[in-house]
Amino acid sequence: MHKFSYQRPTSMTEAFSLKKAAPENSLYVAGGSDVLLLLKKSVIAPNNLISLRALDELKGIRETENRVFIGSGTTIRELETSAFIAEKFPALRDAAVNLASTQIRNVATLGGNIINASPGADTAAPLLIYEAQVIIINAQLAERTVALTDFFKGPKQVHLEKDELVKGFSLEVPPAGSGSAYLKFMKRKAMDLANVGVGVMLTLAQDGTCTDIRIGLATVAPTPIRALKTEAFLKGKIIDEATLTEAGEIATTEIAPIDDLRGKAWHKTEVIKAYIKRACQQARLRSVKGEV
Ligand SMILES: Cc1cc2nc3c(=O)[nH]c(=O)nc-3n(C[C@H](O)[C@H](O)[C@H](O)COP(=O)(O)OP(=O)(O)OC[C@H]3O[C@@H](n4cnc5c(N)ncnc54)[C@H](O)[C@@H]3O)c2cc1C
Repeated sequence: MHKFSYQRPTSMTEAFSLKKAAPENSLYVAGGSDVLLLLKKSVIAPNNLISLRALDELKGIRETENRVFIGSGTTIRELETSAFIAEKFPALRDAAVNLASTQIRNVATLGGNIINASPGADTAAPLLIYEAQVIIINAQLAERTVALTDFFKGPKQVHLEKDELVKGFSLEVPPAGSGSAYLKFMKRKAMDLANVGVGVMLTLAQDGTCTDIRIGLATVAPTPIRALKTEAFLKGKIIDEATLTEAGEIATTEIAPIDDLRGKAWHKTEVIKAYIKRACQQARLRSVKGEV
């Protein structure tokens, strides 16, 4: 494997100045679960890895008025085991539980999963349905915020400058009476990437009419996407079997799956139809039970 040095700054200022010293030849690393794989395969060859693990600014889950801040350095295991996440953002918990193995989840971070920008990143669809904003910080310690939908640029690409870091994500707390879920279709039962991932957050009126719905899809387009046409179709309707079947058909017009290691495009299209329905049903069940 390519030789590299490893630095562990303890402040944001130090992290930025280490990066500035060698902007082209150094790379930030959080949990390292994506970076080390790329290093081993010689896809990347940085001379210097700058660890983000000791930076307190990137850690923590805290409420801020109607939103919740989740630090980019929060591990997937922390998301999986947080009672707060399970209660407020169950779709994110669904994603965390099904991402890789416990060993990987102990080191892998939310920030790394999103910034790696795989079209099938498991946490992406949940963050999309909770209308996540990405909080970005630069070398002058100035912050800017961008909607997650605008953060993804293409497969494995995000809109992030060399002198910037992702500090965390700001999520909208789902309204009372809503329900949410993330379903992942895998070829194997565990330790597999998503063949298809579907996240749904919906709110129902007393009579069962859907007053709000957000659908996030993974692995069926160059980046994770919102299924806006399907959402528009479902809004204002009673979520019954026939409506969900039609919604699944509409969703197939919004996706652009490709044949890859995970599966064939035609198969992903068929799975989308079934999983839109199942994810909506699961979200509806949770809304009735009082879980968001
Ligand atoms: C065996 C195995 C199984 C896996 N299974 C899954 C799976 O089922 N589902 C899934 O979605 N993923 C899976 N992954 C991928 C990986 O574990 C996740 O993407 C993980 O969340 C990445 O987080 P990390 O902290 O390890 O990222 P790292 O590898 O540390 O970093 C990833 C990228 O993000 C950048 N980065 C990290 N943090 C910041 C920051 N704060 N600011 C700016 N840049 C930053 C790094 O420079 C790098 O480019 C798997 C990986 C392995 C090795």
